[in-house]
Amino acid sequence: MTKNVSLLGSTGSIGKQTLQVVRELGLRVSALTANTQVDLMERQVREFTPRLAVMMDADSADCLRQRISDLPVEVLSGADGLLAAATMEEADTVVTAVVGSVGLRPTLAAIERKKRIALANKETLVCAGELVMGAADRYGAEIVPVDSEHSAIFQSLQGCRDRGEIKRLILTCSGGPFFGKQYEELETIRPADALKHPNWSMGAKITIDSATLMNKGLEIIEAMRLYRLPAEQVTAVIHRQSVVHSLVEYRDGAMIAQLGTPDMKLPIRYAFTWPYRAPSPDKPLDLLRCGELTFHQPDMTAFPCLRIARECAVVGGTSCAIMNAANEEAVMAFLREEIGFNDIPRQVERALSRVEVKYTPTLEDILEADRLAREVVRNR
Ligand code: MG
Repeated sequence: MTKNVSLLGSTGSIGKQTLQVVRELGLRVSALTANTQVDLMERQVREFTPRLAVMMDADSADCLRQRISDLPVEVLSGADGLLAAATMEEADTVVTAVVGSVGLRPTLAAIERKKRIALANKETLVCAGELVMGAADRYGAEIVPVDSEHSAIFQSLQGCRDRGEIKRLILTCSGGPFFGKQYEELETIRPADALKHPNWSMGAKITIDSATLMNKGLEIIEAMRLYRLPAEQVTAVIHRQSVVHSLVEYRDGAMIAQLGTPDMKLPIRYAFTWPYRAPSPDKPLDLLRCGELTFHQPDMTAFPCLRIARECAVVGGTSCAIMNAANEEAVMAFLREEIGFNDIPRQVERALSRVEVKYTPTLEDILEADRLAREVVRNR
């Protein structure tokens, strides 16, 4: 069980919900990190009194340092600061709630120090799943997923003594705000339309990924890496109600699922308390009021990102890192209204056709693939 937390990405959606759970469970906090939100970081530092606070942005770090000069809190900035936060001596658990591949190095560093990783940064496993899981094995670090689907699978696997008994993992997918639309209709989608998610409230990047279904593509790869299964044993179904959070199908035909309200605090709490469960102050799912549960096949023609991710999952090597980095850049360009909604998969495919894939890559190969893919999208 977790006692002391280092939280990477404390001002984002998962970060804020993590601190609610930290408060509720009475955990200690040794480090907090954020990008530029100085106001919120100051409030968090005053409440949770970590030993270290990190702002990725150097000016924001200077500003925070001045504001909390009355407190015995060290303030650092940039990638070195993030690394320091991930390796705090007193932290037994590192929550990786940063967005994007910036989470990779600090996650590996925390694994080397045998921390429990409460993994909320799916890009890390997508880009470097084999490296990360290999390191976790070598150092004996526990990786507990915070992503709701992967937590549901993790929970559904608790009674499983032999991974060979798993037939399939079935990830559920809300379908996003454009479920049922045709490819042509998506051409004119604006960021404001895409930022309305039907069930979950999340950060901007993941909300766009949910609208393109890239999020489910990333999650299929994340599940393959976490549970060491080939692409053909991991599938996704559209489940509009977000009540069934994912399922494991066993070889005898049994399907074990986790159900609940769409609330990230449950997977966050479980990542801290596993293998135990703590009482929750939140309202549980009301089966009598949750209505009909439906399941549909995802439409890979209207949502090519899911098809592209499946293809990369099969190809492996650095292809997933290329896809992920190109997607991050394309989503940011879409949010700035520089490209259209359907240009997101177009840019990802362009990067995949231009950057050479390396098989059994090193960390350097992965970071280089990430850099080259971003360059392709920036120079579109
Ligand atoms: Mg998810």
